[in-house]
Amino acid sequence: MFCKTCGTLLQPKSTPYGKWMACPNGHTQPEIQKESQSLKFQNLNQEKRVEVSDGKNPLAVHEHKCPRCGFDKAELIEISANYSDEDNIYRMKCGKCKHVEQLEGKVK
Ligand SMILES: [Zn+2]
Ligand SMILES: [Zn+2]
Repeated sequence: MFCKTCGTLLQPKSTPYGKWMACPNGHTQPEIQKESQSLKFQNLNQEKRVEVSDGKNPLAVHEHKCPRCGFDKAELIEISANYSDEDNIYRMKCGKCKHVEQLEGKVK
């Protein structure tokens, strides 16, 4: 790859934002910088995912007290009915011990 401004062969360059090919004469390569920024975004998302997966279920955001362990956050699982004359089935999955409780009726 060559510099868009002066045509010099690009060299790998390390920056605080990541590594990319850069002109030794300091000309910026707009397209390359854009790519490396989207890469950085992907890394950030991965870090976030690691943070929340510390044993507790990140989807357990609903107020529901687990009858087994007393944990007060649960994941709502909705199982859509196959036929229109049936109600959807809702289950609460405990965010801590994974106990699943079926709920009667609809959840608001
Ligand atoms: Zn250049
Ligand atoms: Zn529980």
